[in-house]
Order: sequence, then C-alpha cells, then structure tokens
Amino acid sequence: MENIRNLSITQLKDKLKEYGYPSYRTKQILKWIWQKGVNSFNDMTDLKKEDRNKLSRHFSLKNLIIENIKTDKTGTRKFVFHTDNNPDIPQGFIETVYIPQGKRHTVCLSTQLGCPLNCTFCRTGYYGFKRNLTLFEILSQLLEVKRHVEKVSNIVFMGMGEPFLNWTNVKHAIEIINSDFGFKIGARKITVSTAGHIPGIKKLFEFPLQVKLAVSLNAANEKTRSFLMPINRHFHLKNLMETLKEYYNVKKKRITFEYVLIKDINDSIEHARELVKLIKHIPCKLNLIPYNPFPEKPFKKPDFKRIETFKAFLYKALKSAVSVRRSRGSSLLGACGQLIYKKQKEV
Ligand code: SAH
Repeated sequence: MENIRNLSITQLKDKLKEYGYPSYRTKQILKWIWQKGVNSFNDMTDLKKEDRNKLSRHFSLKNLIIENIKTDKTGTRKFVFHTDNNPDIPQGFIETVYIPQGKRHTVCLSTQLGCPLNCTFCRTGYYGFKRNLTLFEILSQLLEVKRHVEKVSNIVFMGMGEPFLNWTNVKHAIEIINSDFGFKIGARKITVSTAGHIPGIKKLFEFPLQVKLAVSLNAANEKTRSFLMPINRHFHLKNLMETLKEYYNVKKKRITFEYVLIKDINDSIEHARELVKLIKHIPCKLNLIPYNPFPEKPFKKPDFKRIETFKAFLYKALKSAVSVRRSRGSSLLGACGQLIYKKQKEV
C-alpha cells in the first residue's frame, strides 16, 4: 500500500481528488501528516470517521524508526534512522544531524543512502552508494528530529548524498518544508549544497522558491579538484564557475562556497591566492571547514596557525564574509563528511 508520506503536495491533491475528496482536504491532511505528525489516520480528528477509514484503505502512514540518538557537549545531536522497511529496496541507516547554534537551530538532512560521487576525502563516498532516499525518507528525518528538539529554524541539505542527483524528491521535500501546511520554514532558511552538479544548479534557475545554494569547492584549480572530487572530471571547474555567474545573474542571490582545508593538499598561501582569483568576481560567502579526519583515510587537518593564516589572507583579499566553520558533531562521527549508511561502531 502506498505510504501517504511519499506523495508530493501536487500528487496528494490529485490522489485525493481521484478518491472524491474536496480540494480543501489536501491542506488539512498535509497538516496532519507533517505538522502534527500523527501516526494513525484515526487521529485526524477533524475528518469524518468514514473519511478516515477511506484514507486507511488507500494509504499507509509510515514513519522512520530511530536506531539511536547521540548528543555531544555542545548540544549537537546525531540521529540514526532505519530506512523504510520495504523489502523491494536496499536497506541501511540514514544519518541526520541537529546543530543548535545561538538563535539558529539547523537540521542537516541526508538525500541519498551513501553517495556515488566518491570524493576522496569524504567518508560517505568511501562507503559507496546504495540508492536515492524516497520523499518520505527525506522528510521523516525532519519530522522525527522535530519531536526530540526544542525548535528547528534552518534546513541544510548537507548530509549523505548529492541533492541534485535526487532532485525530484528533494524538490518535493523543499515544497513541503516551506509550505504553511507543512513545516513552515522560509525558503531563505533552506540551503541546498552541491559538489558542483551543473545540470542540477541550472534546475534551480527555474525553481520558484528562493532557497540558498552552497557549492563545495574544495580546490581552486582543475587538477587538485579532479583529484579530490571526481565529479570535476565531468563538470569542470571552469564550466562550474560560468554556471555560477549565470546563477547570480538570474537569481541575484549570493552563493556560499564551502572549502574543506586539508593539510598539504589545498591549504597553502598559493592555494589561497588561487581561490581569491577564482571567486572574487562572484558575490559570495566563504566557509572554510577544517578537515574532519576518519580512520579509513590518511588525510589530516591543518594545524590551527595554518588555518588562521589561510583565513586571514582570504579575508583581506575578498573583504566578503569568510568564516571558519568549526564542524560540530565530530565526537559523534556526525560532522561534515563523516556520515555513513553502515552501522557505526560505538563512539
Ligand atoms: N554532495 C553535497 C552535499 C554534501 S555536503 C556537497 O558536496 O555539497 C557535505 C560537505 O562536507 C561538503 O561540503 C564536503 O566538501 C564536506 N566534507 C566531506 N568530507 C569531509 C571531511 N572529511 N571533513 C570536512 N568536510 C568534509
């Protein structure tokens, strides 16, 4: 039976119409499934009994099951979920991170089970790719996290996977996150992060919701970028930067660049100079992320002084917002690039 949480707003509207419901029911039902998060059609108390029964004849109403939740001393929490227990599709674990920081309460959502991009420095890619997450698996991460935390103000698609390789489901998820009948989170508080998937970025040109775009740059020349991020062998840095200029011209929205600083790979002043040259003509914000080590790879994080020198150079040259994102959640193996779909050892 079809899980009602797997339907986009439009699909739900069409299905309900097909089953003879008046159109205002869509909003009511959306509220029940995503805002109030009920676990049974019977709890939809403003629907007539016969309507509730009819819904349960046509649909199931599944939730993701939590495997465990861990919290570190900063309040950052890593949630591990079982995937949908549908025997027809591969199973695994979905990891989601909640990061409270001052007024901002961010949830970092996963979009794929693993990731096919195989970036050399990323643990998600190291374990390979199983499949795209369904709409329900993407949104239920948020629904379940919300039940356990004080509040959620921001969403970042920066968990496991490349959002643009699962764009249909990610797009439908954004529509529900933003909807007044869904999670009611403003589009400007939703960030889609990409490794540089050019056709995906182009899809954002026509997307009506003004979500933010983040691009994981990680290197400012073709050679290093192709070494770190194999996607660069298809979608070259040069073309990526042209697409981003076009993006700015169409959307007039500042782009966020992420740059993971890895010792002796991309952290010298020479690299900083190259980076300035590459991005200085694009209105942007730059987040430097010190590399989070993991046991399977030999890469290292640069020492504090080197990170500060790199940052100071960029700050002086760009005069735009440059920040060092001290990744939260590393003690939980929940920081950037540490999420995997396999069961992790106790940490
Ligand atoms: N595929 C998308 C979404 C994942 S975001 C993207 O690449 O943007 C995950 C972020 O974590 C990316 O910015 C990536 O560059 C960063 N990352 C991956 N491995 C990391 C590691 N070991 N340490 C720090 N950051 C890492």
